[in-house]
Amino acid sequence: IERMETEAQKLELVGTLAASTAHEIRNPLAGIKGFIQLLSEKHKDNESQLYFSVIQNEITRINDIVNEFLILGKPTAQKLETCDLNSIVQSIHPMIESQAHLHNVVYTFHRADVPLPIRCSKDHLKQVILNLAKNAIEATSRGGQLTISLTKQNDWAVLHVADTGCGMPKHVKDKLFQPFVTSKQTGTGLGLVICKRIIDMHEGTIDIHSIEEKGTTITVRLPLK
Ligand code: ADP
Ligand code: MG
Repeated sequence: IERMETEAQKLELVGTLAASTAHEIRNPLAGIKGFIQLLSEKHKDNESQLYFSVIQNEITRINDIVNEFLILGKPTAQKLETCDLNSIVQSIHPMIESQAHLHNVVYTFHRADVPLPIRCSKDHLKQVILNLAKNAIEATSRGGQLTISLTKQNDWAVLHVADTGCGMPKHVKDKLFQPFVTSKQTGTGLGLVICKRIIDMHEGTIDIHSIEEKGTTITVRLPLK
């Protein structure tokens, strides 16, 4: 991988690997999950229950990675429709709200005062916004804030995802869009790679402004229809 020339080539390889393996991993994993569940109902002692919960957490983690791989694996098969970006963000409101609530983060949403019609693959864009919101919440310690706002700037729909979290050190910033770069113990380092890929598909841009200890603002621009 190191010797491959461009990021695009690396991503393509990751995508191909993803497509060919993710499904294969998913099925046996579901089997393991089911039988662990059965076993844990038979062995109720504390020690066994502790082991089972560790195994279940690890299975969930593998599942998360596999799901992200699945998204990476199907970059082109997308159905484009015209949607209002305001309503796309609004439709995932409950998901963001519940995650924010769980982490004691205050979530605020400002919709644009005009419609923002874009040609897009709705589910993919939802994925982008969720990934960005998730990162923001994970970076924000108790009492922090997550603000998502939408505006229209010339021919662009502009999405800001701003948090008052930990910000990023330079060495993280430089490698953000490389696969598997994560500063989290349970991270996959694929979230932003997927975001970038989906935004590229929409001929949009993503920019990051981050100050350590202060917070991060991610700006996504998508062409208006
Ligand atoms: P993951 O979330 O699995 O670590 P991502 O690709 O989503 O992978 O993010 C990569 C890394 O970028 C994170 O591990 C974190 O270090 C950094 N990062 C992303 N978003 C933020 C944010 N809002 N605030 C601080 N750091 C961030
Ligand atoms: Mg992430």
